[in-house]
Amino acid sequence: MIFLAKCLGCNQAFKFNTTPRLECGNFDVNVRAVWGTLVTGNGLSQLNELLAVLDSPGLSRRSFLDIELKMNNW
Ligand SMILES: [Zn+2]
Repeated sequence: MIFLAKCLGCNQAFKFNTTPRLECGNFDVNVRAVWGTLVTGNGLSQLNELLAVLDSPGLSRRSFLDIELKMNNW
């Protein structure tokens, strides 16, 4: 997740990442979420159901498949 903030004094904008972005371009927490989902025998629907219960935004099908394909090559 990325938080955007703007200083009311000087109008400068700041970006804060809540998770590092990996060399592959994906966010660390998303890669871990897909990894954990797959090794427990689950898929995108189960992950997004869990994330919804945790009041967190889910992963898009595109992001999930992108990470899954990269993992297959690792
Ligand atoms: Zn300022």
